[in-house]
Amino acid sequence: MPSEHPGDASEISARRARLLGPKVSTFYDEPLHVVRAKGVWLWDQNGRKYLDCYNNVPHVGHCNSRVVEATARQAATLNTHTRYLHEGILDYLDRLTCTFGKALDAAVMTCTGSEANDLAIRMAEAATGKSGIIATDWTYHGNTALVSQLSRSNSPGVGKALSGFARFVPAPDSYRPLGGVAGMAHANAFARAVRERIEELEESRHGFAAAIFCPFFVNEGFPDLPEGWLKPAVQEIRKAGGIVIADEVQPGFGRIGTHMWGHLRQGIQPDIVTLGKPMANGHPVGAVVAGSALLASFQTKYRYFNTFGGNPVSCAAAMAVLDEIEEKGLLENARRVGEFARQRLNDLALKHEIVGDTRGSGLIFGAEFVLDCETKKPATDFTSRVVNQMRDRGIVLGSLGRSGNTLKIRPPMTFSRENADFLFDALDQVLTTALR
Ligand code: PMP
Repeated sequence: MPSEHPGDASEISARRARLLGPKVSTFYDEPLHVVRAKGVWLWDQNGRKYLDCYNNVPHVGHCNSRVVEATARQAATLNTHTRYLHEGILDYLDRLTCTFGKALDAAVMTCTGSEANDLAIRMAEAATGKSGIIATDWTYHGNTALVSQLSRSNSPGVGKALSGFARFVPAPDSYRPLGGVAGMAHANAFARAVRERIEELEESRHGFAAAIFCPFFVNEGFPDLPEGWLKPAVQEIRKAGGIVIADEVQPGFGRIGTHMWGHLRQGIQPDIVTLGKPMANGHPVGAVVAGSALLASFQTKYRYFNTFGGNPVSCAAAMAVLDEIEEKGLLENARRVGEFARQRLNDLALKHEIVGDTRGSGLIFGAEFVLDCETKKPATDFTSRVVNQMRDRGIVLGSLGRSGNTLKIRPPMTFSRENADFLFDALDQVLTTALR
């Protein structure tokens, strides 16, 4: 049932520039004007349907009925902040913390992943009395004044000038590994880089407080790394008395198909885990999960309050997401459909020379396009043409990486094998016809 909405695309674009600022970005050469969605589908103003292979926020499907009903029911009953007693946040956190190891037994709720990371870093500072933080040199941890300085994929130009307390290690890349070595040798090279940054920080006025990594390095380009790859780096952090922060905003809630959390696949035990994006299917909810002792020590130093964080409506939405993941077997779906997707990606790689590498796990997967398999020269313009041509064929996906030449495919967790066939049949055709 297509809904007709007036509003010409160029008129909307002009209003956006006037009201949102001239540089606010859109996807695609011809931006999409979407008016409604359900499951893995989006509809534009003309009633045209698009397969959503990009959006990880509607984790359990766009406009999921259980989430919509739970949100509406609670919104019609009570919505207020956490300075009153209410079971909503307690029931939710009891349930959420059960999915972690015993050491991560308490949490603070926020509204965004940025706030969660900002708070995690403040907790690490409070626990260690130091302020130096290590991150990778091509990632995103959010947009507050603090964490934007650790988000160099978004501000490669200004990162260095602002980063007194921050030190960067090379983002892992399985296609072009550090020092040309793969697997655990690559992991050891990464750990050495971490140790060097720790030493630099310990010699500076900041000292070393913590390292923050996405355990699946999604924004870095989700390299294919063996399980346990982060262990040597974590050993270095522990040896130096630092805090390990796992940013699970991207890989969490079963996205990678093999585990509920990316750090479980790495076989590491973080001190702090941060959550966001998919947590409440589009309702703005994030969290910092930590051990109760760490949380208590932070709370003796700071009085943290978040007006909207952990409100009853947010918690109802977040609880409905956990219910859906469990009852619909979405972790298992991600594993099964993800394996099928990797197979189809590999078939494409055999057929199309431009595919230099394929990677991913569960429902985060993609391919890197290169002009030459020997030199691995990035096919950046080609990738952009592919993304735009896929949109013209009714498929929404994105690209990422330092050269923007890696396809980023990260659909809602209800994505099926049939959806994957539709995606890869179209991709096969586009790879055949798009200009090099
Ligand atoms: N951490 C990671 C790994 C992210 O990808 C993002 C958002 N893309 C954030 C943190 C920030 O989350 P938010 O936009 O909710 O502040």
